Amino acid sequence: MHNLTENRELADLLFPDVSKTPEYYELLYPKRKLPEGAKVTRFAPSPTGYVHMGSLYASLVSERLAHQSNGLFFLRVEDTDRRREVEGGVTNIVRSLFRFGINFDEGVTDVGSEKGSYGPYKQSERTEIYKVFAKHLVEKGFAYPCFCSEEDLNKIRALQEERKLNIGYYGEYAVHRNFTIEQVKEELSRRKPFVLRVKAPQNPDRRFILKDLIKGDVEMPENDQDMVLLKSDGLPTYHFAHVVDDHLMRTTHVTRGDEWLPSAPLHVQLFEMFEWEKPYFAHISPVMKLEGNSKRKLSKRKDPEADVSFYHEQGFPGISVIEYLVNLINSNFEEWRRDNPKEPNTNFKIELGKMSVSGAMFDIVKLTDISRDIIALMSEEEVYNMSLKWAEEYDPELWALLLRDEKYARSIFRIDRGGEKPRKDISKWLDVKPYVFYFFDELFDKDVKKGYNFQETICREEVRRVLAEYARVYNHNDDKDMWFNRVKEFCEAIGYSKNIKDFKKNPEAYKGHVGDVTGIIRVAMTNRRNTPDLYEIMQVIGERKVIERLHNMI
Ligand code: GLU
Repeated sequence: MHNLTENRELADLLFPDVSKTPEYYELLYPKRKLPEGAKVTRFAPSPTGYVHMGSLYASLVSERLAHQSNGLFFLRVEDTDRRREVEGGVTNIVRSLFRFGINFDEGVTDVGSEKGSYGPYKQSERTEIYKVFAKHLVEKGFAYPCFCSEEDLNKIRALQEERKLNIGYYGEYAVHRNFTIEQVKEELSRRKPFVLRVKAPQNPDRRFILKDLIKGDVEMPENDQDMVLLKSDGLPTYHFAHVVDDHLMRTTHVTRGDEWLPSAPLHVQLFEMFEWEKPYFAHISPVMKLEGNSKRKLSKRKDPEADVSFYHEQGFPGISVIEYLVNLINSNFEEWRRDNPKEPNTNFKIELGKMSVSGAMFDIVKLTDISRDIIALMSEEEVYNMSLKWAEEYDPELWALLLRDEKYARSIFRIDRGGEKPRKDISKWLDVKPYVFYFFDELFDKDVKKGYNFQETICREEVRRVLAEYARVYNHNDDKDMWFNRVKEFCEAIGYSKNIKDFKKNPEAYKGHVGDVTGIIRVAMTNRRNTPDLYEIMQVIGERKVIERLHNMI
């Protein structure tokens, strides 16, 4: 064991250029002035460019915790592992989250830009800070340099395997833990690279309980491994960096994936060594998926819906995804939504204690249904604007059509919208083209070239006859009731029953019923058997086109 003077000497030896002190940073980043109970949370991704659904889920949890408590939410980029960094990764993360309406109060806003006074928020720009605190730990006797090469570590591992012991750098295997100053000096004079390790307490039997806000009390062994704090390139490991950052950025709640749960004892240890107030921890279980009868993690490799850009490409409104995720965070949201159909989902308060411990089950079908409901309640204007924006990026043909005559395009979306029972044909903007195609001759003509979808049981001769007769009686100026009355009269005139009941009573007496006739007209107009209100469609299409389509078929 070194004494205090020796620790100081060692610290100066290892960090000769570090002159700032922890106090300097404590003053620079004072305790935040926030209302009582306000939570400070963060999302801390590595800039790999890919945003997994699980990350969006976790960031939503963090965002809601902060904002529902009048707290603050920030974005920190954890880019100290250069191998994982991807060009454009930061921009992609910020943009992706923004699209879902996740906004940060502080932190990185793009490459080279950030906001907030607790930065820099990019770990690669904080190396000076980490060194100050690393030096401080050495001074306190809680950290030391380790000069082991890769080869040395392999030897230790082999020995431990042979002896059937825990693998790692600890106890008697921590060969540099008790190096004297002289020995350190000698290694340094030989320019040996070193990592900085924590000097963990050696009580392998001592247990540690983490009071996790999601998982409850989790009992684990106390950390006895001398984990690496600074790598040989001087960059910090996640363990060290996040402790320093979360302290200086005054994070109150560390919400993160539960892959970090096993290292929580080390993190808590570090907070204690620094004599810092510990944040609360909430370890979020991964988002799961049902495959056959078994549950597995939603996988980047296997599931396209694991990548949040999938939702953008398919045109799911951000709000649909968020609404679904709130539901996944707390299942009682569903009931709340039923009772409060019009309120923004931000009025629902999430509770960590109600989150799934085993992992929430992600279900794209349910998400799609929620999205259908949400779009069904949107105004015609919203649907027009949002699908136009989507089409601009993903479907230039649709974009041009929607833009050609805005009034016309909007009147399409007005059909069956706004009433008691709005139709739910659209769950994402990708559905818009198949929904609107028959309003545009160029798309409709292409579609009928592949064949008309008339009911097989009615012969083409009859279809032509019905349409030819109908073209003679059709009056574009009819209102809806007049239109339908005329259709019914027309049915009687050509040997069809004007309602289904009569037909069922005496099928022999008729060629078919009114549903068959409107079915024929519907296919002639739209080439689909199931559409929104036929009268409205014909009104929007316009007289010229209605007559044209009837004749084309004839
Ligand atoms: N950078 C870590 C990760 O990618 C962040 C974990 C945390 O939120 O502390 O998982």
